[in-house]
Amino acid sequence: MPSFSEEHPRQFSDAVLAWFDQHGRKNLPWQQDISPYRVWLSEVMLQQTQVATVIPYFENFISRFPAVEDLATAPEDEVLQLWSGLGYYARARNLHKCAKTVVDKYQGVFPASVEELADLPGIGRSTAGAIAAISMSIHAPILDGNVKRVLARFHAVAGWPGQSKTQKELWRLAELYTPKERVADYTQAMMDMGAMLCVRSRPLCDLCPIADGCVAKANNEQSLYPQPKPRKELPVRSVRMLLVVNEQGEVLLRKRPPQGIWGGLWSLPELSVEPELEEQAETDTGMSLSGYEEWSQVRHTFSHFHLDITPVKAFVSQGGYPQLLEPEQALWYNLDQPPALGLAAPVSRLLKKLQKSL
Ligand code: SF4
Repeated sequence: MPSFSEEHPRQFSDAVLAWFDQHGRKNLPWQQDISPYRVWLSEVMLQQTQVATVIPYFENFISRFPAVEDLATAPEDEVLQLWSGLGYYARARNLHKCAKTVVDKYQGVFPASVEELADLPGIGRSTAGAIAAISMSIHAPILDGNVKRVLARFHAVAGWPGQSKTQKELWRLAELYTPKERVADYTQAMMDMGAMLCVRSRPLCDLCPIADGCVAKANNEQSLYPQPKPRKELPVRSVRMLLVVNEQGEVLLRKRPPQGIWGGLWSLPELSVEPELEEQAETDTGMSLSGYEEWSQVRHTFSHFHLDITPVKAFVSQGGYPQLLEPEQALWYNLDQPPALGLAAPVSRLLKKLQKSL
């Protein structure tokens, strides 16, 4: 039976690797034809998203953009459209930026150092470590959500991992245990252990290869680690979203600014909830409404606030089209033959509901 201690980190990595050989995942799509491009793409998609959700997105991206050059030269709208539904759209915009940087600055070859990788858009230290370790066998630790959970429990590390003191300690442990040999397998193994055994609630400690050294398990305190982020009540913002339909049954969309929520995606024109709707539509968009119908409110929750959306199906009178919207920031969207555009998930749902109502 291995005796675990910080003085003998090999005991830890050997146990993890032995478990991986028997139980680890080896058939995920990004584990085939391993390359920095494929690993990078999967790692960015896997941030805050489950493997099962990522698989079809990864496959779509790879078949449309087989190489980093294909992604770099694609229109942003197409990248955002393929990303639609994965959430956290800043990741998609950074993905696109990163592909361009790899092509322009590194001639399409991902740099072979953690520091240079971590300098690329959208790649933090952990993602850089994963790309380096998995696709280039560089000795580099990772500290994604799964690894944080395993290490925080194994050593009963107090504090929320977002705090710098806690984070520093977790990085120290991640570095300590990352072996020099089989670093790619070890990296995958730690992610698998976090996803398959050391899960958020009710971890499968009886199957865990490092259970004998786990402090949280010994004290039956698995649920206390890692400590959650101190909770804050989320603020609520309210908005009206206009579903403006023209005579051809097309609906008006507006492109959102590149920064902020749903940055660069196409969305519905928004108005605030307080003032009179018709008046506001006129002053904000130059549109005169000939009638409207308010639908019941829907709530969309972001990490930092709730957005309460009141959808309004609106009709414009002849000649009452939006005068004040910049042409490149607005378009009429054909619901029957939708063009390739990135849409925010709640907008996509509202468009489906609108289509049924026409
Ligand atoms: S023993 Fe349980 S809590 Fe500890 S690392 Fe293993 S699965 Fe996680």
